[in-house]
Amino acid sequence: MTTTSPVWHPFTQHGLDEPIIEIARAQGAWLETQDGAKLLDAISSWWVTTHGHGHPSIKAAIKTAADRLDQVIFAGLTHAPAETLARELISCAPSGLAHVFYSDSGSTAVEVAIKMALGFWRNRGEPRTRIAALEHGYHGDTVGTMSAGARGAFTASYEPLLFDVARLPFPSAGREQATLDALEAACTAEPIAALLVEPLILGAGGMLTYPAHVLREMRAICSRHGVLLIADEVMTGWGRTGTLFACEQASISPDILCIAKGLTGGALPLAATLSTAAIFEAHHSTDRSRMFFHSSSYTANPICCAAAVANLAVWRDEPVIGRVRALSEMQTRALERFRSDRRFTAVRQCGTITALDLRTRDAGYLAAIGPALGAFFVARGILLRPLGNTIYLMPPYCITQGELDHVYDAIGEAANRFATAP
Ligand SMILES: *Cc1c(COP(=O)(O)O)cnc(C)c1O
Repeated sequence: MTTTSPVWHPFTQHGLDEPIIEIARAQGAWLETQDGAKLLDAISSWWVTTHGHGHPSIKAAIKTAADRLDQVIFAGLTHAPAETLARELISCAPSGLAHVFYSDSGSTAVEVAIKMALGFWRNRGEPRTRIAALEHGYHGDTVGTMSAGARGAFTASYEPLLFDVARLPFPSAGREQATLDALEAACTAEPIAALLVEPLILGAGGMLTYPAHVLREMRAICSRHGVLLIADEVMTGWGRTGTLFACEQASISPDILCIAKGLTGGALPLAATLSTAAIFEAHHSTDRSRMFFHSSSYTANPICCAAAVANLAVWRDEPVIGRVRALSEMQTRALERFRSDRRFTAVRQCGTITALDLRTRDAGYLAAIGPALGAFFVARGILLRPLGNTIYLMPPYCITQGELDHVYDAIGEAANRFATAP
């Protein structure tokens, strides 16, 4: 694309004139550019594409739904795709979640969660407004979700508008107890409305992993103090961590569950915030001032809901969890050769996701190394978008062994080019 395009891209510094690639079509794990070049989508198009691009039954469901009902206001009206999807989500989500509130993106799913938590406490007559969240967390780019997420260059311009949260240290290996102690202390010191966490792996914060027992302990501490647990499974949901939802690995249920990204298999934008009956009941009244004050114009768009229903059918009818396991095993084997490679540090995996940090002179999200690595991979027909010097793979589940080998070979080459001596 030329610099004359009026399009303003997300997380893009247009002043650097980095190339913007025009994509014409996509199928399975592959994107095809306007001029016919192929790119292997090793990051699932920003973590949304689960089965692969253009899954036939999801595509067919979208076409059928578009013919029947394009869009309808969702206050006071409903439709079959939203009703069916809500019932099916309740039955596949961790137990105890009983209600489904729709929105359009991961950020709005989390905003809704925060508002539900505050509404719950206010309507119970014991207002609590303080949120606890993990260091390095990422929950979206709206003002509320930025507040809960890590602060840095991303948020500097907006800092005066962001609300303060009780920040818990990240439970890195060997320091898990410090996180739990900080949570316990925060819950003891003041009334906390909710703890908001990404279960098992923090995505945009750098693909940082922590063990399931820590999540389990956090759940227990929240329960002891009556603090609501909000699981932000926007990225971790839909098989990424090896199970349908990451919470399953800790055998816990959150009070509020946020899902988006892979909800439609990655075909259309849709999000849902699931809550327990208690949170719904706190808003349930004959008093209109206690209703849940949130909507978006496209709440539960019928075409998006139909795509999500079709996605759930794919999970039911195809061996998706088997593919997730097979991919996780392929990833473990592929990563093996990097574990002793001193040009990398922190070689890690969570289910289908792998990440490794390249030893480079400059690090951090804003470092030039990220885009330089990205361009290096594109030149080899691979779409990766390193977070600074952190290279990660989050492939769609249809990726083959050969395709994965190609990516890891390119990562080895990137180390030859960019790594500094340990
Ligand atoms: C991507 C992401 C979000 C935000 O989702 P959007 O659809 O981009 O708004 C929120 N939480 C987590 C954990 C995410 O990875």
